[in-house]
Amino acid sequence: MRDFSYFRAASTEEASRATLDAGTMLLAGGTTLLDLAKCGVFEPDTLVDITHLAGLGDITVDANGATIGALAKMEEVADHPGVKAAFPAVAQSLSLAASPQLRNMATVGGNLLQRTRCPYFRDPGAFPACNKRSPGSGCSAIGGVTRNHAVLGTSRACIAVNPGDLAVALVAFDAYVEMGRRRVAIEDFYMLPGETPDWETVLKKGEIITGISIPASMAAKNSTYLKVRDRQSYEFAAASAAVGIEFEADGQTVRDIRVALGGVATKPWRARTVEQALVGTVLNVDAVEKASRLSMEDAVSHGGNRYKIELAPRVVARAILTMGGLA
Ligand code: FAD
Ligand code: SF4
Repeated sequence: MRDFSYFRAASTEEASRATLDAGTMLLAGGTTLLDLAKCGVFEPDTLVDITHLAGLGDITVDANGATIGALAKMEEVADHPGVKAAFPAVAQSLSLAASPQLRNMATVGGNLLQRTRCPYFRDPGAFPACNKRSPGSGCSAIGGVTRNHAVLGTSRACIAVNPGDLAVALVAFDAYVEMGRRRVAIEDFYMLPGETPDWETVLKKGEIITGISIPASMAAKNSTYLKVRDRQSYEFAAASAAVGIEFEADGQTVRDIRVALGGVATKPWRARTVEQALVGTVLNVDAVEKASRLSMEDAVSHGGNRYKIELAPRVVARAILTMGGLA
């Protein structure tokens, strides 16, 4: 890791201004930033520590929804009684992520901006070709080992998975990313790779994430996050699903259903075709399995990740059947 300078921002405005300098990066929990600096992927000249900024760590939950400061720690949000009651899938997405040590260090703002785990991206010495790291250099993953790469939202320039769990739950429940004067629906916050996979979000220079807001809904209250991975803990998702359901007064007919996928796409992925197939129906195993397969209608495999096209609909179906009392 090469030398860099360090200072603590005194205010959100000072931190925002600092990001106008191309060599400056914001330091929150540091669990992504320092990791990637050690790999040689990030080469900051200056780190601006934002961990002591006032007012960015608060968590508030009321009848309208939740507001969560960008500096709230993953573990604090996962354990917050209000979040657990009103947004169980959000709390679960965090408690199933990383490890307790990391969750106590890492912030939710940093979590939304974590980078892909594509091994080619993380190893510039061995793999110079990576369009996300070095625009125009090519993609070492295409034609390489692709077991953990995306099957949805890919492009000829990049097939890297967005690895985050929290963002999947937030996409399901129409959350917003707050950036001071601007807010963006989280689904629009993340960009598809297209020809410019180095642009991952709509966050601009001079902006920082100040928080997340999630509107209250019955679907969010009756929700779950199911994560399937190679080992039971301390592992990224092979496939995951955030699912929330609101039933009509009869307790059986689906009034509102939210489905989002993780571990399979280049950005947190809302599965609207699955939702549309199930709204207004009474859930049964066959219908749920059939609808869940719609989530992979546009999937493209790159060899080693073909199993995700089979796995993801099963994860979606199991999450829906669990929420419907049919699992
Ligand atoms: P930092 O490392 O401080 O920052 C990350 C990036 O965001 C940097 O570019 C930084 O400049 C920028 N940034 C931070 N805060 C802001 C802000 N407020 N505004 C603008 N820019 C900002 N995540 C999962 O979701 N699921 C997992 O299973 C999982 N497993 C993991 C396992 C390991 C071994 C490790 C190391 C990480 C894992 N993670 C997982 C990722 C982890 O959750 C992220 O590293 C963490 O959430 C990042 O938060 P941070 O506060 O440490 O961010
Ligand atoms: Fe880089 Fe994306 Fe290719 Fe991975 S998949 S090597 S991140 S361009």
